[in-house]
Amino acid sequence: MEKVKLTIDDKLIEVTKGTTIHKAAKELGIDIPVLCYMNLEDLNIENKPGGCRICVVEVEGRNNLAPSCSTEVWDGMVVHTHSMRVINARRTVMEFILSDHPKDCLTCAKSGNCDLQDMAVKLGVREIPGQEYAEMSEYKIDFSPSIIRDLDKCIMCRRCEMMCNDFQTVGALSAFHRGFEAAVGPAFEMELEDSPCTYCGQCVAVCPTGALTEKDHTRDVINALADPTKTVIVQTAPAVRAALGEEFGMEPGTSVTGEMVAALRRLGFDHVFDTDFAADLTIMEEGTELLDRLTKHLNGDKDVKLPILTSCCPAWVSFFEHNFPEMSDIPSTARSPQQMFGAIAKTYFADKINVKREDLIVVSIMPCLAKKYEAQRDEFKVDGNPDVDFSISTRELAHLIKEANLDLNTLPKEDFDKPLGESSGAGVIFGVTGGVIEAATRTAYELHTGKKLEKVEFEQLRGFEAVRKATVDFDGTPINIGIAHGLGHARKLLEDIKAGKSEFHAIEIMSCPGGCIGGGGQPLHHSDSGILKARTKAIYAEDAGKPIRKSHENPYIIKLYEEFLGKPMSEKAHHLLHTCYFDKSRKIEIS
Ligand code: SF4
Repeated sequence: MEKVKLTIDDKLIEVTKGTTIHKAAKELGIDIPVLCYMNLEDLNIENKPGGCRICVVEVEGRNNLAPSCSTEVWDGMVVHTHSMRVINARRTVMEFILSDHPKDCLTCAKSGNCDLQDMAVKLGVREIPGQEYAEMSEYKIDFSPSIIRDLDKCIMCRRCEMMCNDFQTVGALSAFHRGFEAAVGPAFEMELEDSPCTYCGQCVAVCPTGALTEKDHTRDVINALADPTKTVIVQTAPAVRAALGEEFGMEPGTSVTGEMVAALRRLGFDHVFDTDFAADLTIMEEGTELLDRLTKHLNGDKDVKLPILTSCCPAWVSFFEHNFPEMSDIPSTARSPQQMFGAIAKTYFADKINVKREDLIVVSIMPCLAKKYEAQRDEFKVDGNPDVDFSISTRELAHLIKEANLDLNTLPKEDFDKPLGESSGAGVIFGVTGGVIEAATRTAYELHTGKKLEKVEFEQLRGFEAVRKATVDFDGTPINIGIAHGLGHARKLLEDIKAGKSEFHAIEIMSCPGGCIGGGGQPLHHSDSGILKARTKAIYAEDAGKPIRKSHENPYIIKLYEEFLGKPMSEKAHHLLHTCYFDKSRKIEIS
């Protein structure tokens, strides 16, 4: 590879030809400020539109300033990253950006967490000249079931577009208009609900301003907790415990399971349960479905479709409903753990505590924004009453805890309540890419072979690569497993299935980078792989510390089948724990 030598701030460096000034400076430990730029190396995605111009630098011999994120170095280049001209230009650029930005920082959903505000402080902007010349655009706020878009706050960094189009290949967002009206959103200024958006929330996770935020349900939860006629129970998804501590100043990867339970109890929830219980239940249903299809397939039944696809990620479900509706008989029919929990809570548990369905409020704490949308889907309601009443994100839970003057750092560790709070390690690993299929493999292997697993960890299913393949030996029968995180990678696997080229018996797909630990509702991580890997480690450590590691050995799951459901895939289990899919593909008509 050809090398070039250049000088940045009087320091000499040799880098590969094609390197940008920003990357070369980073190698020297020089941190050039950026706003629109993002580099997600592990996901192989880089956003460098050179649009915001905050990262400009002075290059000797070049008249105008150069955006360092998108300008490649050349041999003999001399760069100054913080000359007075550069500092002045950055400040002016920021003043321009702020001149047509709404001034509602005090009440903005991103207040305290806003990259734009942080950058304005860093650049020393104390007043905004020229506002009288700027035109404020007047877009209507778009309230979808999961995501709120306030286009007046869009600064055209186009990070959301990168996640939506490059990483997810969803294609719900693209830039439109020019000048003060310029913004990013669905084509023809449609609302998100009319677009192919899956509500994965990755646009929210990378948005540097309040242009994209989650739909907040914390007021609904507070009102429910304050209503003496309601019994309010809560379930917490596995990935939440590995990230919530970050909102309280803890290092990424600090597990706060016990402290989170203590906080929820002090917030006033009548019963604190665990979605991991329902993850174990998902394995019983999905694993049985897998074994059923597999056995029939191995016996030569050509009508049985393989691979089976996991179905616990609602953004993924929306994705295939929009893009591959003709293949909707391939995914498992098992509902997601959130919805299985809701269905069991409002039947089995409601009966146990003698509370009417309409007086039982089920709240879920999720790392996910798609779960808000999922909870509102009509097929998960009985006479209009939803199985899950409110789904709030990890960030929303952190707000609730802080609002109640609680601090995770000083709370004791407490245990979940029974019976819906008991889970195996297999339920915990649902939070990471590869975890669902590993959990299913632990159970399916033992049920299929009748033998005990000597080692429950399937290392070949773990990792961070976008698409992974592994073959697991089911006592002489090789089972080919595929794993993908990110819908763009899932799309490739689906195209293979469609073309009859898939080699897999089972495939796990999660929409978010790293799985749910990188969900759109987690403390803002901007898809930093270091943070995601630390959270992943915390999840595997929690699994390793559990006395029960396999879903089918969870005594409360066994009891649930004995007392209520009968057996996996029974008529009752099918009615409560399975679902069907819909064709959501649409053609856009231009009049
Ligand atoms: Fe939600 Fe997890 Fe799917 Fe992301 S990967 S959309 S957090 S279920």
